Amino acid sequence: MGDLPDPIREPEIKYTQIFINNEWVNSVSGKTFPTINPSTKQKITDVQEGDKADVDKAVAAAKEAFKLGSPWRRMDASKRGKLLMKFADLLERDAVYIGSLETLDNGKPFKMAYGEVFFSSDCVRYYAGWADKIHGKTIPVNGDFFSFTRHEPIGVCGQIIPWNYPVPMFVWKIAPALATGNVIVVKPAEQTPLTALYCAHLLMEAGFPKGVINVVPGYGPTAGAAISSHMDVGKVAFTGSTEVGQLIMQAAGCSNLKRPTLELGGKSPNIIFSDAELSSAVDYAHEGAMTNMGQCCIAGSRTFVHEDIYDEFVKMSVAKAEKRMVGNPYDKDIESGPQIDDEQYKKILELIESGKKEGATCEYGGAKDKEEGYYIKPTVFSGVQDHMRIAKEEIFGPVQQILKFKDMDEVLERANSTHYGLGAAIFTTDINKAMTFVQGVKAGTVWVNCYNVVSPQAPFGGFKMSGLGRELGEYGLQNYLEVKNVVMKVPEKNS
Ligand code: ADP
Repeated sequence: MGDLPDPIREPEIKYTQIFINNEWVNSVSGKTFPTINPSTKQKITDVQEGDKADVDKAVAAAKEAFKLGSPWRRMDASKRGKLLMKFADLLERDAVYIGSLETLDNGKPFKMAYGEVFFSSDCVRYYAGWADKIHGKTIPVNGDFFSFTRHEPIGVCGQIIPWNYPVPMFVWKIAPALATGNVIVVKPAEQTPLTALYCAHLLMEAGFPKGVINVVPGYGPTAGAAISSHMDVGKVAFTGSTEVGQLIMQAAGCSNLKRPTLELGGKSPNIIFSDAELSSAVDYAHEGAMTNMGQCCIAGSRTFVHEDIYDEFVKMSVAKAEKRMVGNPYDKDIESGPQIDDEQYKKILELIESGKKEGATCEYGGAKDKEEGYYIKPTVFSGVQDHMRIAKEEIFGPVQQILKFKDMDEVLERANSTHYGLGAAIFTTDINKAMTFVQGVKAGTVWVNCYNVVSPQAPFGGFKMSGLGRELGEYGLQNYLEVKNVVMKVPEKNS
């Protein structure tokens, strides 16, 4: 990745239309929607607004691209890998532009947005490598028969992505789907459509045949719902809120039983024991709560601290929050930009007020910042009790809740007493405590003495209401494959 280059502060907006069949088209309805710069609350541009009719067109194009004998179906698996490798190279070629465009549309610091392009290219290369390494088995069935399995692509996959990490979320969805030979219809979040549209252009430049990738910007209840209820879409992958995840699963079940994978919300516990390396634990807990302005499904939004170190931990966490650089996300030293939009901004401020009213102590922040955008001060609450809304609801903002605990049994029970189960962490130098926690906590990822470490090679997903299925790693491929058992009569079977 090298040193951080200068961003392009006014990146040109190149693509605002719907991408179907490797062509840019307007919406059938003629409607557009605005996308807003969260740092200024000003409109960036209008984007073509996809709806059911546009999704129908995109699905039809994808179906055509998936027909037997099509260039995509006839393509060697290794060639699919090469196309993905090329896409990864193009992402890196244009990393400054893509990062700059993301900072404009999403408000995240350029430093993060730029880094996320490289995290994404790594992920694309990881799945590119898998393309020609996916194969079935031969199975010793009874009788004079020969049985083998084929791991086949499902066909048209719908992919609905959120606004918090637009490029990584786009890539987590498309890379395994394409490596396994599927065709896709992607709906980016309405708040952040611009980088997904630029990625569509890069995928075309990489050489993917027409119809394999289609990107339809638009709103959730219209374009998103059209995907999740479509009879010709065989699979739907979704990242977003638990409430919408439930709607998607209902739509999948009520239509054609399309296979869902869901990556949903969290209220992840982060447990700090008194034998932990304190300053490292404070740093990780701070980043766990504040990274990406807290707009992170795996945010460590319940920091449980042992009573022996509680006061000191709170003091050190406040000092971290005070120092956090909030401001224009194009400036190099900035660590936090604005929240994504007015709705999230108001929701976070309302939850902060609820914390104060319910009796938690607001040690720092607790208010808006800089009127020109959706800025909120990094906020630290101490004295948080399990029943308070800030300890139960997903805030999706820069708000750290610090709770006190006495021993392992108690904290494990409290950590698990949520419907969520996405991430969890423990900070301790005692291996026995670490392993007790690892085995007892119900979460898809458990970090020991670290936080927020997510890699293309390792699975990511949730227990309980945090999701269904796993993305990333080898596990992430299974979502995109059907297993076909083929049984052939043979004249005489021999061992
Ligand atoms: P958030 O609350 O973080 O904005 P959402 O779950 O509302 O997350 O949105 C995540 C993605 O799901 C976005 O692309 C959004 O447009 C889409 N979406 C929202 N509602 C629906 C729905 N009813 N059906 C399908 N997709 C939806």
